[in-house]
Amino acid sequence: MPTWLVTGGAGFIGGNFVLQAAANGVRIVNLDALTYAGNLDTLSSLQGNAGHVFVHGDIGDRKLVDRLLAEHRPEAVVNFAAESHVDRSIDGPGEFIQTNVVGTLALLEASRDYWKALEGDAKEAFRFLHVSTDEVYGSLGETGKFVETTPYAPNSPYSASKAASDHLVRAFHHTYGLPVLTTNCSNNYGPYQFPEKLIPLVIAKAIAGEPLPIYGDGMNVRDWLYVGDHCAAIRAVLERGRVGETYNVGGDAERPNIEVVNTICALLDERRPRTDGEPRNSQITYVRDRPGHDRRYAIDASKLKSELGWSPAHSFEQGIADTVDWYLDNQPWVQRVLDGSYRLERIGSAT
Ligand code: NAD
Repeated sequence: MPTWLVTGGAGFIGGNFVLQAAANGVRIVNLDALTYAGNLDTLSSLQGNAGHVFVHGDIGDRKLVDRLLAEHRPEAVVNFAAESHVDRSIDGPGEFIQTNVVGTLALLEASRDYWKALEGDAKEAFRFLHVSTDEVYGSLGETGKFVETTPYAPNSPYSASKAASDHLVRAFHHTYGLPVLTTNCSNNYGPYQFPEKLIPLVIAKAIAGEPLPIYGDGMNVRDWLYVGDHCAAIRAVLERGRVGETYNVGGDAERPNIEVVNTICALLDERRPRTDGEPRNSQITYVRDRPGHDRRYAIDASKLKSELGWSPAHSFEQGIADTVDWYLDNQPWVQRVLDGSYRLERIGSAT
């Protein structure tokens, strides 16, 4: 059974990844600082599972990371830990620099020293995989897609901090030889996403009969990928990716925000019609655009597809229907986030 040190594994994508990896027989040491975005409810099905060790701590805590590496001897470090919400980065960039840049640097240094001391097959097999975003490439015009060689041009403090971390990861490969891999993925959606991000926010507000806020004219385009498909891509890169390479991950599912919101409204109208019979898209309200709002993202994932044989298992239509159903079926998870009680859990279960 391989052991992987996963950081940020109580968050949205990390949580899905941990659940998927644990189901596939990987032993996970899950290091998470449990910021507002960390939610142990997501991992409740792993309680009592000896293959999952949760550790409450910061990736920037060098002593702690050194201890975890020495104690658990992982074959890989997979770094999801980050501040991830663009709007929060506009209000307060400092925490983004602290975790995404300074924290990633500490994790890299600890991983480098651990890897250097390994020998033989263990040294050969070790990988550091850094999970990043397509937002580092900036904004596209009407046409074209991001490829791995697209120059970095981040426009928000969030994407700038992720770009800096990507550069550090690259530098640790070229300078110290650390066997790194980087994935740059488009917007994810699916189960366990914190309801501040577009899709879970709209589902929660649509169900509650509240206004559905859309930035600007609603025509900002994102390339949506179902989170389970992103996790499968990370696993493929970790197991078969070429060391030192970066891989773009995307779903070939470009949609303007307004279309995403209309799709969610239509799905909810079918599954749980409003008592007054009104369509839910009547709740849409346009709000002032986010500063520096990138207009369009689109990913060319052909390198990942041709080299590693990955392709997304969910079309957008299937993924979004499954996601709406998941939120309808898991209202207690959502309620505990909305009323803040998910944060009480951490007191009891953090080690
Ligand atoms: P998230 O905000 O849901 O989760 C982040 C997790 O990291 C949380 O559990 C949080 O507690 C933890 N964390 C934060 N600071 C930490 C620290 N200093 N030490 C340890 N843990 C810490 O984020 P997400 O949406 O799951 O994104 C995960 C990763 O994937 C991020 O690196 C993000 O940049 C990247 N990414 C996200 C998307 C997306 O659409 N959500 C797309 C592409 C890439």
